[in-house]
Amino acid sequence: MKPRVAVHKFASCSGCQLAFINMGEDLITLTELVDIVHFPEAGPLGPEDAVDIAFIEGSVTTPEDVDRLKGIREHCGYLVTMGACATSGGIQALKNNADSDAWLKSVYAKPEYVESLSTSAAISRHVAVDFELWGCPVNVRQISWVVRQLLTGVEPVDANEKVCAE
Ligand code: SF4
Repeated sequence: MKPRVAVHKFASCSGCQLAFINMGEDLITLTELVDIVHFPEAGPLGPEDAVDIAFIEGSVTTPEDVDRLKGIREHCGYLVTMGACATSGGIQALKNNADSDAWLKSVYAKPEYVESLSTSAAISRHVAVDFELWGCPVNVRQISWVVRQLLTGVEPVDANEKVCAE
């Protein structure tokens, strides 16, 4: 049975998922080695259940995000965050220093129907993260490097530094 991989989206622009798709031939090779069971931007939307590697794009901005994220953490081997949204809260974290209720009222006609946390937080603020990929968006080579290392049982401790140094 091939290792199972999932890519999950939280609050984000989907640019990091597109970087993942832009792996090109590497992505084709990857699909021969693993089963990608959940990937909103690329097609499969399987249940968010047990996988070997879960990639997370986006930040945590709603109470529902928190519950969903905890479920993903419970059912994955490695959890890898990718991009500035997932690793630091992203551009949406600008609201962290603002009056988020006032912003909600100014944006939505019926703010009472919008459930939103007062902050946009990095994934690591809510669950344990095994590896972080930095960037906005992430670099194709970072993703490729991490996947190759994890599949061969090596801890990819230098994924960001290696790509930056190239
Ligand atoms: Fe989009 Fe940048 Fe967030 Fe990636 S890190 S989802 S490219 S805003």
